[in-house]
Amino acid sequence: MEKTFIMVKPDGVQRGLIGEIISRFEKKGFQMVGGKLMTIPRELAEQHYTEHKERPFFGELVQFITSGPVFAMVWAGDGVIATARQMMGKTKPADADPGTIRGDFGITVGKNIVHGSDSPESAEREIALFFKDEEQV
Ligand code: ATP
Ligand code: MG
Repeated sequence: MEKTFIMVKPDGVQRGLIGEIISRFEKKGFQMVGGKLMTIPRELAEQHYTEHKERPFFGELVQFITSGPVFAMVWAGDGVIATARQMMGKTKPADADPGTIRGDFGITVGKNIVHGSDSPESAEREIALFFKDEEQV
């Protein structure tokens, strides 16, 4: 079964949106196969966002994602990687359609509520970074 890595970012946790986000994926028919509240260590944040390490906002990105607890999850289902990205909406909340998570709740590009893997390769890499096999059902 296809799997993806989804994370409620510190702004989403702080605003009480964990339940809302889980509910949207549950209602869509996907299955949560791993989930945990955690504060991301700096090294893990740098590894997770390694594709952005040369970008000017990298320092800010790592600072923000480590600034408070996140809710990290693995979700399974047919087409879950691409469908979850559609349900999240565009990176910039101002460009994200109403009805998407970022369109409905996001404020700025830095505080855009949720992360989701963008490809099968990213999903495999990110799930392995955050979850041990025994942490998934
Ligand atoms: P994510 O990887 O978090 O699911 P994404 O795939 O939609 O988001 P990426 O291009 O991978 O977007 O960027 C990763 C994150 O970096 C974005 O979610 C956003 O929080 C932050 N980011 C992207 N572009 C900028 C920018 N120009 N300024 C500040 N932060 C940015
Ligand atoms: Mg991304």
